[in-house]
Amino acid sequence: MKPVNSVLSSFGTTIFEVMSGLAREHGSINLGQGFPDEDGPAALKAVVVEAMTGLPNQYPPMTGVPELRQAVAAHNKRFYDLDVNWENQVLVTSGATEALAACMLALIEPGDEVVVIEPVYDSYVPMILRAGGIPKPVRLLPPEWALSPEALSSAFSDSTKMILINTPHNPAGKVYSSQELGMIAAFADQYDAYVVCDEVYEHIVYDGHVHTPLMTYPGMDQRCIRIGSAGKTFSMTGWKVGYLTAPPALHAAVAKAHQFLTFTTPPMLQHAVAEGLNSDDDYFEGLRLSMQQKRDRLSAGLNEAGFGVLPAEGTYFLTTDIRQTGFDGNDVDFCQHITVNAGVTALPMSAFYLPQVVEGHGAPDHFVRFCFCKQDSVLDAASEKLVSFFPKEQKKRAAPMSDPSQQA
Ligand code: PMP
Repeated sequence: MKPVNSVLSSFGTTIFEVMSGLAREHGSINLGQGFPDEDGPAALKAVVVEAMTGLPNQYPPMTGVPELRQAVAAHNKRFYDLDVNWENQVLVTSGATEALAACMLALIEPGDEVVVIEPVYDSYVPMILRAGGIPKPVRLLPPEWALSPEALSSAFSDSTKMILINTPHNPAGKVYSSQELGMIAAFADQYDAYVVCDEVYEHIVYDGHVHTPLMTYPGMDQRCIRIGSAGKTFSMTGWKVGYLTAPPALHAAVAKAHQFLTFTTPPMLQHAVAEGLNSDDDYFEGLRLSMQQKRDRLSAGLNEAGFGVLPAEGTYFLTTDIRQTGFDGNDVDFCQHITVNAGVTALPMSAFYLPQVVEGHGAPDHFVRFCFCKQDSVLDAASEKLVSFFPKEQKKRAAPMSDPSQQA
């Protein structure tokens, strides 16, 4: 038989799936994959039921039901003072994942370069490659995760078509500073590049950090496509409802890709998400506060277990340095080790770096990511297991806090 397409088949099963499988096999508490273990607002589920029984269940309009497109435009105005025309600037997609794929397929020509920032979310590079693009990585390193102008400068060239940014950033938990966003805007202008802004964690920011879309920067409304996800904003990851905001010309191009990918998204879910986006400010503040409490809860437990816990400014992930636990191996070994022996699962941070970069080029291999959007009892049980496991197993707590210059 003839070979299948080589680009996507060359990628292994994602680390999320691999570690979740191992967690299932060993009955361990899964703090690897990033999904809440409690559903979002019951009122939104009721809207789904009502819409499913009371409204047609046929193809809705290709760009999304008007109610949701209007709600996305109003949400842009309310939170970011962005003036958006719901008719030709908003597109509803089947999750942020489809929005991202549609952007790559719509904008990238074979041979175009696309700047990505490592650690990088797992769907970006496969889709860039499938669209014929060439990923140009810029690396962020723990514990600072600082974006340097030199690194950006060496990644951009006259062949750069696009830069993909994710803020708040999964897995680093970083919220880009205004200085960093300004720098990205300047490079995008200088090289006439599009900016695809993955902002799925836009409402999950802590300690007074503020999420500011790059689209609000001068001139950037013409270059940016801003992507949101109901999965994250309403804790309904299984719904797979995403939405993007773009200038009309880019919107038209991305809508073409969407037309041939999924064409549309279940209408009853769209109606519920419209209602969600129209919620009053208390809802969004409540989400932020509840996640912040969970962050602090797990952070305290991991500290007690001996991890070096890095600050998380946003998202629902904590990055931890494993050397302080006394473990003598890399992050992948560590995640297997604690899944099998301590009954808790995390994800190795090296999985978020491009393979050709990880091997022998100094990418960090002693940090792991824990997800904290879980019930308090689950977070407490995970902490207890880790606290009782590490002192028992290895008592050395002598390793220094992470120092980027020592990363092997
Ligand atoms: N981007 C990032 C950074 C994510 O963390 C996720 C979900 N884990 C997605 C995109 C995909 O979102 P969705 O489920 O809406 O497709």
